[in-house]
Amino acid sequence: MEARRIHITGVVQGVGFRPFVWTLARRFDLGGWVRNSSSGVDIHVEGDVAALTAFERALAGDAPPLAAIDRVAAESVAPQGHAAFTIVPSLPEPGESLPVAADVATCADCLRELNDPNDRRHGYPFLNCTNCGPRFTIVRDIPYDRPHTTMAGFPLCPACAAEYADPANRRFHAQPVACPACGPQVWLERAGARASEGPAAVAEVRRLLAAGQVLAIKGLGGFHLACDATNAAAVALLRERKRRHGKPFALMTADLASLAQHAEVSAAERELLLAPARPVVLLRRRADSPIAADVAPGRDRFGFMLPYTPLHHLLFVPGPHAPAVLVMTSANLSDDPIAYRNEEARERLADLTDAFLLHDRPIHVRCDDSVATVFRDAPYLLRRSRGYAPLPVTLPFAAPQLLACGGELKNVFCLSRDARAFLGHHIGELEYHETLRAFHEGIAHFERLFRVQPSGLVHDLHPDYQATRYARERAARDDVPAIAVQHHHAHVAACLADNGCPAPTRVIGVAFDGTGYGPDGVIWGGEFLVAGYADFERALHLRPCPLPGGDAAARHPWRAALAWLREMDLDWSADLPPVAATGETERAVLAGQLAARINTPLTTSMGRLFDAAAALAGLAPSVTYEAQAACELEAAAAPGEDGAYPFAIADREIDPRPALAALVGDRRRGEPLDILAARFHNGVAAMVAAACDRLRRDRGLTMVALSGGVWQNLVLLERTVARLEAAGFAVLVHRQVPANDGGLSLGQIAAAAARLARE
Ligand code: ZN
Ligand code: ZN
Ligand code: FE
Repeated sequence: MEARRIHITGVVQGVGFRPFVWTLARRFDLGGWVRNSSSGVDIHVEGDVAALTAFERALAGDAPPLAAIDRVAAESVAPQGHAAFTIVPSLPEPGESLPVAADVATCADCLRELNDPNDRRHGYPFLNCTNCGPRFTIVRDIPYDRPHTTMAGFPLCPACAAEYADPANRRFHAQPVACPACGPQVWLERAGARASEGPAAVAEVRRLLAAGQVLAIKGLGGFHLACDATNAAAVALLRERKRRHGKPFALMTADLASLAQHAEVSAAERELLLAPARPVVLLRRRADSPIAADVAPGRDRFGFMLPYTPLHHLLFVPGPHAPAVLVMTSANLSDDPIAYRNEEARERLADLTDAFLLHDRPIHVRCDDSVATVFRDAPYLLRRSRGYAPLPVTLPFAAPQLLACGGELKNVFCLSRDARAFLGHHIGELEYHETLRAFHEGIAHFERLFRVQPSGLVHDLHPDYQATRYARERAARDDVPAIAVQHHHAHVAACLADNGCPAPTRVIGVAFDGTGYGPDGVIWGGEFLVAGYADFERALHLRPCPLPGGDAAARHPWRAALAWLREMDLDWSADLPPVAATGETERAVLAGQLAARINTPLTTSMGRLFDAAAALAGLAPSVTYEAQAACELEAAAAPGEDGAYPFAIADREIDPRPALAALVGDRRRGEPLDILAARFHNGVAAMVAAACDRLRRDRGLTMVALSGGVWQNLVLLERTVARLEAAGFAVLVHRQVPANDGGLSLGQIAAAAARLARE
């Protein structure tokens, strides 16, 4: 007879870990107890030595699917004479922390019950179990117990209470457990009045969608605006009301079989679509799909997700008015944050929607859908939010408790504690009042949830970012250091951390993006850095070009195009598309601006170079969302074309003028858009390989890290990685966090921690 005390850390709460331990202990005939604590799961087991060994082996090997164990620590203790094995109350420990699970898509067992007319949860939009359901979006505090969630206001009925208390049941201690008798309800609301409830409300929603209406549907992390994606008039109505022109809408369909009618799906994409996080996955569109063209104008991909809540599944159940494909886009006006509270939705969405499908389970944290794609058969995240947040990214080294505040656009903050980086959910553009509030609330929530008290505030070098201001003000208030990390260095450090590179790693960091503050007052964005976590040196960069209008020029690719033509001493002649698209007065103003250097900051931005190339190739002279021109140029690139426009690489500068001149020449010769687009992409890829080759010769570095928003261009990514690998480089690309500013705060944390460790 022996006894062991075991402490397990990692994602081990809200994933069915205690019933798993309970079942295991009974199987091996062991006595003792298991409980949740603020830092993980504690187990006391006693019995036969061989049984204890088998128990410990199974503990790590057979853990439930959603668990992610970091560490198992076991020690021998004195037996206490437990005859049975029981689950005992949670132990709160002040200051301790552990990961909180992310929201999980409805599991197969729950889906079966949802569709079973004999089940007591048949057709119930909020069924869930230990293996699925809401987590992060309903958690108010830890330990993860029902009173600490937004389910606190729904007392369990006797039937649910019995399941909740039975360790042999799939719903044992499933905190959001509910049924039609005791749980949340849905209702349809129109003009401020309840029109119908429960199954009748869902049926009515289907009827209204089939009739071409736009509906606001409350989901897991916020509201969606939904309409029939095959109905061009409905899609146009949604665009007009949302005042969102051009930017693609996310789509949802019943299952993989119906999805296959609209897009091509590889094995790796199928796996990503079905992952518990259920991100929106970008898929190559089929030409014969009946989806309205205006859903994703100018793009060769659709963003698709599969149903991830029971309510979504009910929308698609076969029967009267079952939709083929729905647009499911974040419910907001333009760039506002997604609406997530009933009151707020009624106020903000009234003019956008014909009716509301509401429910009374509060959403504690607003959380947008995540977006991902597949690169070389593995997931490549483009926006990390619902289903991933607040799961930590494991750092390759321990960090002190820090808060990194991220960038201005696509903001995501990050907290570190030990070797964990807790990245927040997608916050968005901080210039908006509402978003800034979400930023403050999100940080406060994460600090409480993970018991982090920052001993340093990390920020971008840009003095006018809201995130920078917050960091500096708070650092002064809390009397802790404010640590600045240059934007593109943070991108490269993020890529290193994303790949788990050890602290001494040095790479050639190719940081290409739209804009980032350079210490020399130039707007950087086409940078080759020789970098490690703690420091960097700017080895090569794109030739600076004056950008009329600065950041605002991102909405007007014609401005970048005309500025580059001027740098090339090429006339603004009317046969060139960005010239033809502008008025004489506009051009005169621009010429004056450039000549007098008024509001024309210098930039080395690769994003703006893509804008210029896209406009010169004949794509939209003005755009409605950031990087639209580059996305359309990517979509246009001919797959089979391998010609490449030449870039000149001088001492420390890369000159794109020969490439742009070749593009203009091709265009004048009447070469089609897809050839121009392919040759420009190939040219950039070849330039990266040549520049890296040169740095390898000079510095002896053989590893390249690709980071920055431009690397969300998959055509460029694929062609560049292929060339770099053919030249013998080891290439690091992002995987767990986005290459764009959504991954910036991870790099800020890693860089700051490395610098502090060195001091
Ligand atoms: Zn389930
Ligand atoms: Zn119940
Ligand atoms: Fe950036």
